[in-house]
Amino acid sequence: MGAPSSPRVAIVTGAAGGIGAATAQRLAADGFAVAVLDLEEAAAAGTREAIEAAGGTALAVGADVSDAAQVQAAVDRIAAELGPPVVLVNNAGVTRDNLLFRMTDDDWDVVVRVHLRGSFLMTRAAQKHMIDARWGRIVNLSSTSALGNRGQANYSTAKAGLQGFTKTLAVELGKFGVTANAIAPGFIVTEMTRATAARLGRDWAEYEAERAAAIPVNRAGRPEDIAHTVSFLVSEGAGFVSGQVIYVAGGPRT
Ligand code: NAP
Repeated sequence: MGAPSSPRVAIVTGAAGGIGAATAQRLAADGFAVAVLDLEEAAAAGTREAIEAAGGTALAVGADVSDAAQVQAAVDRIAAELGPPVVLVNNAGVTRDNLLFRMTDDDWDVVVRVHLRGSFLMTRAAQKHMIDARWGRIVNLSSTSALGNRGQANYSTAKAGLQGFTKTLAVELGKFGVTANAIAPGFIVTEMTRATAARLGRDWAEYEAERAAAIPVNRAGRPEDIAHTVSFLVSEGAGFVSGQVIYVAGGPRT
């Protein structure tokens, strides 16, 4: 009998809270060793502790995904301390919503930088390990906002861009056993959507109920809804699903 093989290593960016934390916990429950990456290592520690308390393996890593040197250092550290990463979930994100005429250069640059440059840098650094392993899974977080959303010229552009990025990764990396897919969530209850309600001056409970009423399944989404879809896309059996955008929105385009 051989030694038990070590678990595959997954990186989830922006995993201190919200969708990223739920995804990191789900992948750990699925048997992955998970690098919980967020801007500050201390912020990622809560997710790491939750994974360890449930019997999983995790490493908290601090890095700004839009900074090339920090990204390379983080991926090198993950490879050294957990093992070579073969799953990458590009989830880190920010919003700087404003109607176009009020949107500043900085609003545009920050959002495009974190989502697009961040996903590019993380993927470029991690893909080497997937190519070496001849196996890999990349999941990028897009959004229903990619279809257009008032006040989100910057964000919808970035989220649509991630769909093109995903399809190109699928084309380039498929022959190495690496799939790339995007998930486009609809309205999911996290700090991001709570902050949107606050910015609009809306009471959270009222805002959530109004949004939920417009969703065909008649409820708001939860981070676990997205984690479940990530779990499928990174699974062994999903190896023939690549270059796709899966809308997880409680309906076709909410
Ligand atoms: P969230 O709760 O705000 O989590 C995003 C995380 O990313 C935060 O912990 C944030 O840290 C981190 N982050 C921001 N900039 C970063 C950077 N440069 N480097 C590393 N980490 C960074 O948001 P969420 O709602 O879970 O969203 C997760 C993803 O799903 C995002 O890509 C978002 O655009 C997408 N999405 C969300 C929804 C929704 O309804 N919630 C819908 C569609 C798509 P800080 O807190 O320190 O900024």
